[in-house]
Amino acid sequence: MIVMKIGASKQEILEVVQGIEQIGYQAKISKGAQRSVILVHGNIGYIDESYFNKFSGIRNIIHISKRLKLVYKENNGGIDTIVDLGDNIRFGENVSHLIAGPCSVESGDMIMETAGFLRSRGIKLLRGGVFKPRTSPYSFQGLGEKGANYLYDAAKKYDMKIISEAVDEYSLSFLLEFADVIQIGARNMQNYSLLKKCGAINKPVLLKRGFTATLEDLYASLEYILSEGNPNIIVCERGIRVFEGTKQRSIIDLLGVKDFKEESHLPMIIDTSHATRDRSKVPGLSRAAMAFGCDGLMVEVHPDPDKALSDGPQSLSFNDFDQMLIDLTKISSMFGKPLKLFREN
Ligand code: PEP
Ligand code: MN
Repeated sequence: MIVMKIGASKQEILEVVQGIEQIGYQAKISKGAQRSVILVHGNIGYIDESYFNKFSGIRNIIHISKRLKLVYKENNGGIDTIVDLGDNIRFGENVSHLIAGPCSVESGDMIMETAGFLRSRGIKLLRGGVFKPRTSPYSFQGLGEKGANYLYDAAKKYDMKIISEAVDEYSLSFLLEFADVIQIGARNMQNYSLLKKCGAINKPVLLKRGFTATLEDLYASLEYILSEGNPNIIVCERGIRVFEGTKQRSIIDLLGVKDFKEESHLPMIIDTSHATRDRSKVPGLSRAAMAFGCDGLMVEVHPDPDKALSDGPQSLSFNDFDQMLIDLTKISSMFGKPLKLFREN
């Protein structure tokens, strides 16, 4: 809807109408007592409003239909998408899930030990990075292909699902052979060519919100995957940068999670480890996240966090994890989304 300025001339209105028709849309003028409004109709998609900069006489432009389509719940018949990983693990239902594991796979033994511990606690979703997008090129970059093999062996032994991050086309195609869910990390949230590739795979994707991305930016990234044909996306809030940058690494946008869950049909989980650099804050953040409402959590766990090669300070020890799990089991039931654990009797 194009709102003209008060006193816009007939000629100015006519030029806007012609401009609309030139790009294949139809225009309908509605004359008010003070100003005219031009309604733009057509079915060719979203118009970039900079096209109208050349016309004088326009006061402002109001978009009635949205720029994106597939990401919104209202365009999905109001129905939430359920991401089914098999073995009775479905994201987006009335239960929550816990994804856990080390930041990076560091050796065969450490991932085996971590997987064994987690599985004994009923966790079936094992995370572990093998291709690591580190802020410094001098930091540990992950074990790559070798790490993927270690992760695969551990998941196989304990009957767990693998979540691991792809950082480029090569790691994506490599991980397709090993992982059950492909993670795209915060730093690659706007790597549109990688997102398009993720739209063409037949595995679920876990997309993390970039730490400087607005919800609109996140929606656009999701639209890239959805429009290529992959509806199986688990979205992950992992903290956004805020002006309080000295004490907090970032802050979990719980209100954004609520808005997302109302506006989009995709399941959303919260990574409570990456928002902070401090493991003592992870259990509290996790309790808050569960109480506030989301489809699950992701946390980093390490057999010896002080010796971890990446993200040690925020990684929980096995003992920390056990303590946290007791609280999360209670809180998740209290707020109507009981944590789904797979405990063998
Ligand atoms: C990770 O999950 O280890 C990771 C690198 O996360 P993020 O992309 O959220 O920083
Ligand atoms: Mn990490």
